[in-house]
Amino acid sequence: MDDYTLLIDLHKQGHRQGPGGDAETELSLNFAMIDRDAPLKIADIGCGTGASTLMLARLLKESHITAVDFLQDFLDVLNKEAVSAGVAERISTLARSMDDLPFADEELDVIWSEGAIYNIGFEKGVKDWRRYLKTDGLLVASEITWISDSRPAEIQTHWDSEYLEIDVASAKIRTLEKHGYSPIGYFVLPDHCWLEHYYRPMQSRFDDFLSRNGNSKEACEIVATERHEIDLYERNKAHVSYGVYIARKLG
Ligand code: SAH
Repeated sequence: MDDYTLLIDLHKQGHRQGPGGDAETELSLNFAMIDRDAPLKIADIGCGTGASTLMLARLLKESHITAVDFLQDFLDVLNKEAVSAGVAERISTLARSMDDLPFADEELDVIWSEGAIYNIGFEKGVKDWRRYLKTDGLLVASEITWISDSRPAEIQTHWDSEYLEIDVASAKIRTLEKHGYSPIGYFVLPDHCWLEHYYRPMQSRFDDFLSRNGNSKEACEIVATERHEIDLYERNKAHVSYGVYIARKLG
């Protein structure tokens, strides 16, 4: 088993594969001031098992959403859920890397991405994806963000080594401005998006995950890493969260 197999095994039963919430997805939609009756073409990039895709499909009844993730196993879960939710005809899934997207220039009204853009880096994502958006099209992306001006060394060191681009919101907003967007909204995901929606359900799956995988060294390492990250978050949640950035593409 390679690491993806184990990560898929740990995460595919989760409603979300990162911090977030259905109410916060809807809040982002409100910030974006999207016309809920418009026939929008949307891409949800790094969709995982599709918590946000399904919310968007439910709330935007005339929209079509292309849900992109490079892990087919997650997309399989999403396809099943879309059928149960009665929105399958308005969702297409695409197993593809987010740095090699097949969209045409100015094809999309909205690019949505929750807890995923860091995989190619926020700056590269906002820069490279811009061309797929129509003028006045919307980018909604959540991104790990420092929510205090200075912070304890342990959390600074951890995230500096995990993600070079971690920064404060003003720096992320500046990046959006630099690359041809007008920022129109920003908010911080509250604690429950991390704890109740992501970490607690994952913690409740650890025992089954370990026994399913024969307590292998690799499985134990994954659990130890997650436990460490949860512990760090709990002690430092005043300093770090996901920021949700909502921006309009300038012409
Ligand atoms: N948006 C979902 C998943 C967030 S986790 C949620 O909020 O629940 C990040 C997702 O990005 C995972 O599903 C992972 O498979 C996907 N991912 C990571 N690197 C990727 C890449 N290069 N291209 C496409 N998807 C990627």
